[in-house]
Amino acid sequence: MSKENTEYLISRNKKIYEVIIGLEVHAQVISNSKLFSSSSTKFGAEPNTQVSLVDAAFPGMLPVINEFCIKQAIKTGLGLRAKINKRSVFDRKNYFYADLPQGYQISQFNYPIVGEGSVIIDMPNGQKTVGIERLHLEQDAGKSIHDMDPQNTLIDLNRSGVALMEIVSKPDLRSPEEVSAYIKKLRSIMRYLGTCDGNMQEGSLRADVNVSVRLKGTEKLGTRCEIKNVNSIKFMQMAINYEANRQVDLIEDGKTINQETRLFDTKKNETRSMRNKEDAHDYRYFPDPDLLPLEVSDEFINKLIAEIPELPDDKKKRFIDKFKLSSYEATILVSDLETSKYFEEVVENSDVKLATNWITGDLFAVLNDKNLEISQSPVSAKNLSKLINLIKNGTISGKIAKTIFELMMDGDKDPSKIVEEKELKQESDPKELEAIINKVIQDNPDKVRDFKSGKTKLFGFFVGLVMKVSGGKANPQLVNDILKQKL
Ligand code: MN
Repeated sequence: MSKENTEYLISRNKKIYEVIIGLEVHAQVISNSKLFSSSSTKFGAEPNTQVSLVDAAFPGMLPVINEFCIKQAIKTGLGLRAKINKRSVFDRKNYFYADLPQGYQISQFNYPIVGEGSVIIDMPNGQKTVGIERLHLEQDAGKSIHDMDPQNTLIDLNRSGVALMEIVSKPDLRSPEEVSAYIKKLRSIMRYLGTCDGNMQEGSLRADVNVSVRLKGTEKLGTRCEIKNVNSIKFMQMAINYEANRQVDLIEDGKTINQETRLFDTKKNETRSMRNKEDAHDYRYFPDPDLLPLEVSDEFINKLIAEIPELPDDKKKRFIDKFKLSSYEATILVSDLETSKYFEEVVENSDVKLATNWITGDLFAVLNDKNLEISQSPVSAKNLSKLINLIKNGTISGKIAKTIFELMMDGDKDPSKIVEEKELKQESDPKELEAIINKVIQDNPDKVRDFKSGKTKLFGFFVGLVMKVSGGKANPQLVNDILKQKL
């Protein structure tokens, strides 16, 4: 299963290094209220308008666990085929920072809510399984704003206390491409589940990237560096690329790699040291005395299992079985839940092959071009299936369909109306076509002579000319048949 053929290898002085990557993804839980308070989590509100006394850490305030967030975390664990821990414990992770009013983050350390699991990624040369180490729940901190006031740092506590799932992978990733596939798959699973919107621009999904290198063929892991808080896939890839090469250079220069926390400077495309990597004991973790250990029953978990929708891997399998799609086509169509729904709506009443080609070809191109989600598609699934049926039953040619598709985008027009209005119906009457073909043959006696003397490539010339004369409306199959007889 796990072919390592998409790995990133670095050669230096006749030695080959491989790159080992593990991710700690912070995924914001979809929930109207925070993990331990009833404040809103809505994005983009005025600073400090969504802060309860708990979030601001006023003395004597007690956290109250949000049951919905627990459900979301367990659902995500189920989506990661992971072990759900019926007993987990919230700990205080102590550190000082201005945007952390409590002086500690409530997190889970020894007993996370979700244990080991796995995520399957599709790479060009096959599938690969990436191990999940754990998933735990924790609070987000507030936000320090350094660039609004020249003298002061401003603090916005709206995010303080928002529920995060920290999803820790095993060090199974071997290249920037695999990291990209992994993040996309993780995001896809959580979107299917409705547990995280995966919006990286808004910071709902960000990752700490652990990178180390070692000589290919050796077992022992090298010293790793952690690149903090990277919020786009492209930046993750750039950071890994830079960091891996930096580490190889250090080793080749006979220097040692410091285990440290680094930041990625997106403008200079380099990673820089922030601080020496802290170990767990630096945080003085201890169970939060304000919160009892969290215990969930089998019944609670079973109810959630019953709510899990068909997930990308199962949907992909079904699409391959039911619609005879290739693995590649199925992967594309299921990667986004809305796309898969659109596809199923189109094929319900039309041809699978044509639907696949139109969606992954023309439709995706338009959406890409206009920067739209499929839910905002200017052509509805219903009208696309109508267009496909017009091709399928011979009313229009594939070429004319492209023209009609362009016209449909203006207000999601019904393609059959466009065919009528613009008189784009395919000419399939043999008599009409014969007339055109006779004229074309008459007008080009020299080409006919050349064709008959063996220049068979000229057949295409005649087909093209007939199509042109017919305004693109001639039925290409019939034109071929009649031309063959006449010539
Ligand atoms: Mn964390």
